[in-house]
Amino acid sequence: MIAYIPPEEPPFHSTGKSVSKQTFEDNLKKYGSYTKIPQKEKNKTFELCGRSEVKDLLFAASSGKCVYCELNPSDTGSRENDHFLPKSSYHDLAFDWGNYLPCCRNCNMHKNDQDPNILGAFKPGSEDPRPHLQFDSMKIEPHPSSSKFSEIDQLIKMCKLNRKSLLKSRSIVLIDLMLFEDALSEALNSYEKAKTARTKNSRLSTLRSALENVQSYSLMDQAHSAMSAYYLAKSKVVEKAMKHFE
Ligand SMILES: [Zn+2]
Repeated sequence: MIAYIPPEEPPFHSTGKSVSKQTFEDNLKKYGSYTKIPQKEKNKTFELCGRSEVKDLLFAASSGKCVYCELNPSDTGSRENDHFLPKSSYHDLAFDWGNYLPCCRNCNMHKNDQDPNILGAFKPGSEDPRPHLQFDSMKIEPHPSSSKFSEIDQLIKMCKLNRKSLLKSRSIVLIDLMLFEDALSEALNSYEKAKTARTKNSRLSTLRSALENVQSYSLMDQAHSAMSAYYLAKSKVVEKAMKHFE
């Protein structure tokens, strides 16, 4: 789950959506319901939402990541434009720019036509979710003291954010973090044992690199950066190392 600031609606979308909306309405009348519209007609009707220019804008705002699982869709499947409130139920929001979210095929598939309004699920982009999260090793959970506990919990369940494949990819990041933290600990010990100003100076530069390596995992474009930031905020070694650069 990422902190996401939705991009501005581009002119080609704001001008093109009225025709697409009309086509959708016509199809709803012609076939009687959303589910009865043939797939071929749906593909034509929703061509605007699926355009690569739309996805480029959405994914540029999410550092290339799925807003739900924090993976880059090129690693997990195709980039998709998720309608947060499903277009199958919310016809009026089918071309609403504010209803679009960059997501991966796996999360979109798990989310399917579930209604976030009925479930009371948290909407990425409404606010930074990170203060509302905690991680129990690889598992993402709502923070017990969060005012958004239920909303976050519902989103985790709706998109199955503790599915096996995500636990596995989080475990790889956790292993990397532990190894870089060990390297940082060594660099810290070595720096603190240095006797001369010259040695101290050279070891400080090694310490800085080791700290930057481990902290890079919490940068926005990294997979599972929310988990890494949570892990690093609790790391005594990181806290101790940072004191040398204050
Ligand atoms: Zn995803």
